[in-house]
Amino acid sequence: MLIGAHVSPAGGPAKAIERGVEKGADAIQIFNQNPRAWKPTVYSDEQVADFRAAMAASRVDALLIHAVYLLNPASEEKEFRDKTRASLIASLRAGDALGAHAVVLHPGSAKAGKVAPAIKRAGKVIKQALDESERCPLHLENTAGAGGTLGRSFDELADLVDAAGASKRLGVCLDSCHLFASGYDIRTEEGLASVLASSAAAGARSSSPSHASSACPACSRRRGPSTPARARRRSR
Ligand SMILES: [Zn+2]
Repeated sequence: MLIGAHVSPAGGPAKAIERGVEKGADAIQIFNQNPRAWKPTVYSDEQVADFRAAMAASRVDALLIHAVYLLNPASEEKEFRDKTRASLIASLRAGDALGAHAVVLHPGSAKAGKVAPAIKRAGKVIKQALDESERCPLHLENTAGAGGTLGRSFDELADLVDAAGASKRLGVCLDSCHLFASGYDIRTEEGLASVLASSAAAGARSSSPSHASSACPACSRRRGPSTPARARRRSR
């Protein structure tokens, strides 16, 4: 298992490796753009080469890119979905360039609207973003379900994966704090095993083979260290 942390890429992504090493991290997670602004970052060839050299020389074995929280692929407003798509494409292309393990995305919110059409809208935007990028996997994160957020259950995550075309590049990121808040009791080994079994069952229901990924980068810096697990890479 890799134990990691969310770190800042200020000064270039190679700096994020440095910050991860300072924290004793085996994996790091970054935002690839300012989390409060829409302007996507495109890393230069030099920044990419510096990052790859720094990572190869370090103890850090995996990079996750967290798409910024502004995104809502399920928005009812076309302009908002367009901006979300452009930002998500930039994140996935940054993931392609940097060799990221995955981009992590909160799948959006239906706000006060109906859930089924919101899942359909989100799926379409996600599929288009995958089509405009080459390789980097995209992991949809489970949410706590507040404010109409999508992905509050494994079935809803499976519906989102299917709505996005069930690409082999799609997987799931389990946030342990959100899981607990949505009523999944993961406080004991047995509880966690049973929750992971339901996750696998939802994965089998979906047509996406990578859907049952079962590691948990807890995403928020508020919650500290996160864990992209080596086990997940083996299970792919
Ligand atoms: Zn997150």
